[in-house]
Amino acid sequence: MGVLALQGDFREHLAVLTALGAEAVPVRRPDELASVSGLVIPGGESTVMDKLSRTFGMAEPLRAAVDDGLPVYGTCAGLIMLADHVVDGTPGQRTIGGLDVSVRRNAFGGQTDSFETDLDVPVIGGPPVHAVFIRAPVVDRVGALATAVGVLDDGRVVAVEQGSLLGTAFHPEVTADYRFHARFLDKARAFSSR
Ligand code: GLN
Repeated sequence: MGVLALQGDFREHLAVLTALGAEAVPVRRPDELASVSGLVIPGGESTVMDKLSRTFGMAEPLRAAVDDGLPVYGTCAGLIMLADHVVDGTPGQRTIGGLDVSVRRNAFGGQTDSFETDLDVPVIGGPPVHAVFIRAPVVDRVGALATAVGVLDDGRVVAVEQGSLLGTAFHPEVTADYRFHARFLDKARAFSSR
């Protein structure tokens, strides 16, 4: 399993995947991307991740990998990178895309810049997920191809799924609840044995 390691909290994701028994490697180059059967895109800063992915020749290989069905799980900035459209991006900001959604950057301004809440996520079962939001985006529009799998009490969508792609506006890697990573690993294992 790979974790995109251009920028952001990729070390935390590597630790989670390792704790779940996966062989986890940082991915910075196209040849490293080609060797993994699943990829996590971490939280961080999507504008920087966008620039670095283009500088390092990773943007097109990432798009091709998503097109090919590679399972990808994006958290926070990673969710922004997976969105087909970004609202309140910086001028010229691009994404990899794949998720038929619009994501609004820094959607929880001011006092609630960062907050935690318990969130029901029926697709992963069990008790609510303790969701940690850090300058988080929100999914403004869920297109026909994507499914909202986590919704705040006020109706705002913060977790989405579309086939092999999974995205959360929050950061399970900073909690001890690894059910989203486990769901991602299930997809990645199915992909590698196809
Ligand atoms: N606000 C950041 C962005 O726009 C995301 C924050 C995060 O990943 N914790 O990319």
